[in-house]
Amino acid sequence: MPDTIQLLPDHVANQIAAGEVVQRPASVVKELMENSIDAEADQITLLIKDAGKSLIQVIDNGRGMSATDARLSFERHATSKIKQATDLFDIHTKGFRGEALASIAAIAHVEMKTKIEGESLGNHLKLAGSEIVIQDPIACEKGTSIAVKNLFYNIPARRNFLKSSAVETRHIINEFQRVALAHPEISFSFFHNDNQIYKLNAQSVRKRIVSIFGKKIDEYLVPINESTEHLKISGFVGKPKTAKKKRGEQFFFVNNRFIKNAYLNHAVTNAFEELLGSGYYPSYFLYLEVPARSIDINIHPTKTEIKFEDEHTLYAILRASVKHSLGQYNVAPVLDFNRDASMDVPYDYKDKKALRPNIEVNPDFNPFKKEKLVQGPKSAQWESLYTGLNIENIETNTESDAQLFSDEKTDAKTYQIHNKYIVSSIKSGIVYIHQNLAHQRILYEEFLKNITVKDAASQQMLFPLEISFGKADIIAIREIQNDLESIGFMFGQFSENSIVVKGIPVTITESQIGTIIERLLEDIQSELPESSFSQVDIMSKSLAKSLAIKSGTKLDFKEQEEIVNRLFVCKQPDISPFGKTTFITVNINDIDKKFGL
Ligand code: ADP
Ligand code: MG
Repeated sequence: MPDTIQLLPDHVANQIAAGEVVQRPASVVKELMENSIDAEADQITLLIKDAGKSLIQVIDNGRGMSATDARLSFERHATSKIKQATDLFDIHTKGFRGEALASIAAIAHVEMKTKIEGESLGNHLKLAGSEIVIQDPIACEKGTSIAVKNLFYNIPARRNFLKSSAVETRHIINEFQRVALAHPEISFSFFHNDNQIYKLNAQSVRKRIVSIFGKKIDEYLVPINESTEHLKISGFVGKPKTAKKKRGEQFFFVNNRFIKNAYLNHAVTNAFEELLGSGYYPSYFLYLEVPARSIDINIHPTKTEIKFEDEHTLYAILRASVKHSLGQYNVAPVLDFNRDASMDVPYDYKDKKALRPNIEVNPDFNPFKKEKLVQGPKSAQWESLYTGLNIENIETNTESDAQLFSDEKTDAKTYQIHNKYIVSSIKSGIVYIHQNLAHQRILYEEFLKNITVKDAASQQMLFPLEISFGKADIIAIREIQNDLESIGFMFGQFSENSIVVKGIPVTITESQIGTIIERLLEDIQSELPESSFSQVDIMSKSLAKSLAIKSGTKLDFKEQEEIVNRLFVCKQPDISPFGKTTFITVNINDIDKKFGL
């Protein structure tokens, strides 16, 4: 048999490696910014166009590269960061694999300008498909600028696989936030389509958090400080009030590298125990410093997962220090920026076991009671669920179960049982309708239709409402603004950290607006990684879930009828938008059988 093994040509090998390193525009952002940090830059600018699909550029004032290094940097396994295998166990830089630039150059057009301190001229390189097409001297500033254009231009399948601009932008913002939070000592600016989104001066951790997430977070931050021989923990946790229904602002940094770690996350969540309602996630910004030799960051190519030598101890210390600080915040006033550092002196860890944190527990305490606006509608809100309803407009699918079913429906009365099910008699027997799931289906179809038809009823507000959001959220809202308008929202001014709402869909009340938009943003974000659904679908689902009448709400006869009638003109009345059964029927013959008839 002839030999069959061949070495893959470099450009093919690079494209394959690129698949691991570059999943989406945000991966390029991460790699380039990390390189700038490794080059000891203290000013980093990020520019993106079209959610990074047409341009991602990072400009730094770091060390720069010589002509030879500039050329070599695009070779696979070319790195200045490790020299021998043993270095792998003592990593102090973000990169060390020497894969990022080679991978990026394999799937995009790249242009680099770089100059070392003291040289009169810098180097200019252009690459396409891993090949250097131009290299010449250029006059430029000290540091490095790398522009990545037309990502995945040569892999249409990958390019088509990219999500909407809203989603890709959100990923980029997440990545930017992680890097910026990990390095408050560095100034960053970030432009999206020529609009400046962030301008962050070198500042303290606390100020960095506030600059990114908005002023209102400041009063909610509880400082954490802990020092043992092999570990330092610092940072902040959010008071229970800031907890989110979806995993939101949760950041762990280990030696200034953002990481995800379910075990440590558990330690923090656990420390909150009684303070959080179930299903709520605490916010935290925690910085761990451990000896580089005690961790292994080599297990994942994109390096957000790491292994610790002694996870159990770490867990215990982390949980105890969060608990301790939470206990203290109940009595201690909020500390301001200029606080006396001595107030943060870590207490002696050895004594900690004996010290039960001073947390007053009220078993009925629900920190969200006041804020939880999307509750079972009170009668006034409930009324509004029906105003503007236009049943005639909803197309009926003659072949659907719905039609068969509504033919079958007699004029019989409906009943509500356990404030949860609507029961009604039908020709063939009895139907049980789950009020919450059924209403989700009704609203879901209504929103979907409104978004596509764009003729939703809107109620103008007497006094426009200004709501503040973080910058990232403002950008996200802009991205979905058209869709929101087609379901009845009307917006006024967008500023850096607030939006003005002038009109809302007739199905919601003013007090629900903030929560609904926030939930919507969280849902869009949490659907990011796997969902193949369109954004319109996610939005409709999210709103339907927020607004559907809850189990436990008492409905009068008219309201019950309304649900029944509207459900059975739906295109798919039998399942909720999340795939749950909305109603069941019991056949009269089966009832007869139970009586032995
Ligand atoms: P790694 O970061 O794993 O070493 P990269 O492919 O990201 O691999 O970068 C290759 C090399 O190019 C780096 O080791 C570094 O020497 C050089 N380099 C990349 N970006 C910069 C930059 N912004 N400033 C200075 N040198 C850089
Ligand atoms: Mg790198």
